[in-house]
Amino acid sequence: MKKHYSIAIDGPSGAGKSSLARRAAAALGFIYVDTGAIYRTVGLACYRAGISCKDAEAVEKILPRLNIQMRFNAAGEQRMYLDEEDVSSRIRMPEISICASDVSTLPVVRSYLLDMQRRMAKNSNVIMDGRDIGTVVLPDADLKIFMTASSAARAQRRLLELQGKGVKANFEDVFRDIEYRDKQDSTRAAAPLRAAEDAVILDTTNLNLEESYRLLCRTIKEKLGVQPVG
Ligand code: C5P
Repeated sequence: MKKHYSIAIDGPSGAGKSSLARRAAAALGFIYVDTGAIYRTVGLACYRAGISCKDAEAVEKILPRLNIQMRFNAAGEQRMYLDEEDVSSRIRMPEISICASDVSTLPVVRSYLLDMQRRMAKNSNVIMDGRDIGTVVLPDADLKIFMTASSAARAQRRLLELQGKGVKANFEDVFRDIEYRDKQDSTRAAAPLRAAEDAVILDTTNLNLEESYRLLCRTIKEKLGVQPVG
């Protein structure tokens, strides 16, 4: 009998992965792991240390000294800690998005984080989202989804999200950010963003959040035979 289910959701930023994956995981009673938050925490650590997030040698030097932890609070939400400080909000700032994309091009960072991610999927039912979950981290996932949307739709969503958090932002800057990260994430040599061959492609460009969620639930039901409740 199969012990654990794993669902891998990959795709560019702003496609809706995190909100949808978080909700589906809660409805299924699965753990939700946002791997982007781990890369963001490494990016924040480099930013604070005053080193360039693209400087492989400098980043490699500080990696063993990093105290990064992922914890789940009583509500089952993932929180990121850097040296015991809860940095879950801090890592969402636009300058840290760029740092995360920069450090994630470095093979030394990717291999450093690989075990941490695999361990989380080993003993639990999990929905994990990121850029290389279906292709590298969990190549045997029971279901692989590649969630995407046009860059304009994704920038618009990211803008509303930032504004909702009280962060000053404008469409042009957010759009430029998204295009920078898309290009870097999909052209890097190490584990580039791409759909796994056996991934189901979900395009949410013309769907609102609720419609996208229904589509995700239908896909999970069809492929795994389990129905998210809620
Ligand atoms: O998903 P999120 O936008 O928070 O991820 C931040 C950055 O971390 C991405 O732009 C990407 O460069 C990197 N990342 C990655 N591999 C993952 C998750 C995120 O390279 N599995």
